[in-house]
Amino acid sequence: MIKPWQAQLQQNMRGECLCNESLAPLTRWRVGGRAELLVRPMDDQDFDVLQQVLHDYDLPWCVLGGGSNVLIADAGIDGVVIQISHFDQIEPLAQQRLRVGGGCNLGRLVCYCNEQGYGGFESLAGIPGSVGGAVAVNAGALGQQIGERVVRAQLFDEQGVHYWSAGQFGFTYRSSRIGSQQLIVAVEFHYQPTDPQQLKEVAEAAIGHRRKSHAVGGANAGSVFKNPPGEQAWKLIDQCGLRGLRNGQAQISAHHTNFIVNQGGATAEEIHRLIRQTQQLVAKQTGIQLETEVRMLGNFGEQA
Ligand SMILES: Cc1cc2nc3c(=O)[nH]c(=O)nc-3n(C[C@H](O)[C@H](O)[C@H](O)COP(=O)(O)OP(=O)(O)OC[C@H]3O[C@@H](n4cnc5c(N)ncnc54)[C@H](O)[C@@H]3O)c2cc1C
Repeated sequence: MIKPWQAQLQQNMRGECLCNESLAPLTRWRVGGRAELLVRPMDDQDFDVLQQVLHDYDLPWCVLGGGSNVLIADAGIDGVVIQISHFDQIEPLAQQRLRVGGGCNLGRLVCYCNEQGYGGFESLAGIPGSVGGAVAVNAGALGQQIGERVVRAQLFDEQGVHYWSAGQFGFTYRSSRIGSQQLIVAVEFHYQPTDPQQLKEVAEAAIGHRRKSHAVGGANAGSVFKNPPGEQAWKLIDQCGLRGLRNGQAQISAHHTNFIVNQGGATAEEIHRLIRQTQQLVAKQTGIQLETEVRMLGNFGEQA
């Protein structure tokens, strides 16, 4: 039975509106339930429609990017899940700037910049996901973080569509001030003109490093925990003897202890319990509270 707000969005949006859509295939962990409604806005007008309906029905909503850094609850997500895969354009601007849609694949952006000689993104080569997701979590690798390149971004939230400067994001390690009810529609970046050959070499080295350290052989969401100041999460987990620890079909990777692998048919609950268990055991043995780098979407009861 379609609800009135679902029907209203389906009738008035040009992009896809999918009722009761399974989200597991849209995540790297391949777990999680369904979205009451998954929408993919096509243009700015679709955002106007969305804003009106979200407001009129007081609906909960959240954003899903490439699903590479999220754990979605088995019970799924009430309300509207917004994915902006149609907003994927890369547009060069004056003054060494680029405007990039939040739905653009990060790998595509990195390749484009490397070919054009636009430096500042090369070490991000191989990080999965979307540009919007990367900016929301301030993704980074090998000393380079995407937040350092942001000039400003176009956001969608309860105020409609507006801009935030880089300063308003308050970027810190794997974090920004973007809230769960805010969506990054597009980002303006500043690049550093650099020899394309040099960029290619750095990117290839980054990908080579990933191939070795991330070969965990199963569905995963990359690093589960942030590195605490002066520490490495994987080392703490390893020192506590948790390598290979298992909860159902969820297992701490034997190859990289900051990765949790879905060994096939794991539930979100199993992964969540393993996260909690790891936090408790590490806290008990070291006194350090590991903070999750992966984000939880939906209801898990206790927070990880
Ligand atoms: C094998 C592997 C390796 C990885 N290596 C790295 C690494 O080296 N460094 C690193 O930083 N990360 C790494 N990650 C994690 C992940 O790839 C990044 O965090 C990525 O930037 C997340 O983007 P996404 O589009 O997949 O976001 P999602 O996982 O879909 O979402 C992550 C969070 O961002 C929010 N979000 C998504 N899109 C938007 C948007 N447009 N506007 C506002 N909020 C949004 C979501 O609501 C959620 O809270 C790795 C993951 C994997 C699977």
